Amino acid sequence: MQALVKTARGPGHLALQTLPDPVPGPGEVVISVAGCGICGTDLHIEADEYASVPPVVLGHETAGHVAAIGAGVHQVGVGDRVTTQPFFSICGTCERCRAGRPNLCAQRRSIGTHVNGAFAEYVKVPAHRVLPLPENLDTLAAAMTEPVACCAHGILDYAPPAPGDVAVVSGPGPMGLVAAQIARAAGAEVVLLGTSDDERRLALGRQVGIPHVHDITRDDADGIIAALTDGQGAPLVIECAGTAPSFDQCVRLAQPGGTLLQIGLYGKSVQVDLDAAIIKELRLFGSFGQVPTAWPRALDLMAAGKVQTAPLITAVLPLTQWADGFAAARAKSEGKVVLIPAG
Ligand SMILES: [Zn+2]
Ligand SMILES: [Zn+2]
Repeated sequence: MQALVKTARGPGHLALQTLPDPVPGPGEVVISVAGCGICGTDLHIEADEYASVPPVVLGHETAGHVAAIGAGVHQVGVGDRVTTQPFFSICGTCERCRAGRPNLCAQRRSIGTHVNGAFAEYVKVPAHRVLPLPENLDTLAAAMTEPVACCAHGILDYAPPAPGDVAVVSGPGPMGLVAAQIARAAGAEVVLLGTSDDERRLALGRQVGIPHVHDITRDDADGIIAALTDGQGAPLVIECAGTAPSFDQCVRLAQPGGTLLQIGLYGKSVQVDLDAAIIKELRLFGSFGQVPTAWPRALDLMAAGKVQTAPLITAVLPLTQWADGFAAARAKSEGKVVLIPAG
């Protein structure tokens, strides 16, 4: 099969290679990949700003149908439409694992970083990580279940808004567009902020029904939040851009004692005004990846139409055009870019 491989550490070192089709061992499932989304993490791995264990097939945001099952697999059958959690193996015994937080296990090996992922025709995963898709959920749209689970984990586990609370989402990339929808589904009055570079993505925010969508290079974000909160500031700010100015803006727009949820990854050390966060006694939560309990929540939100991912997928390219896809994702000129195996 064709697969997009990180061949060595260091910037670049991505190549399309022909690999043997994976064969499921006991308890394993091979998924025929319908599509796999390009994540910010993939861009960070390409730039060597995020650790991977080459040679490894990248890609962890996927859905497809079951192509083969190994011995002892009863959860799913061949032909079932599925998505998968990215965890390939964990220690299972550390405090984090026992608390249902495999994303924090030091022994965690995930598809797309440690073991072969889904920028390929097939991906092999443990059967207990596979989830059947709700009937009304399109398979390609379900490739975004992973980012939905990430945002569901961060927002619902750490910073659930009270109904009517103003929630600011800074950064209208795919994560921001999903986070905004989840915060809205939780009852928040959502304000999505981007810059003039994000014109297309801000339009996607309007398309999926986010009530307040603003380009901060044109509109006065401080004034907008002040007007919506009687000058108090937002009780919840969600940083999804992974840039220092966005972080500083989030701190500025937060109300004293409010919550800052950090979802964006910066990929490097950055200089931000932490004193401003301290002086406001903000509660600062990092949210990294997702936990297993977030997956059914994500699928429920998607099946109910409360989180729409299909409109966010604005580019679908064959795997052979991965370089164009990565460039588009880096240029922020699209919503989610999805690569599909060339048939
Ligand atoms: Zn991802
Ligand atoms: Zn562990």
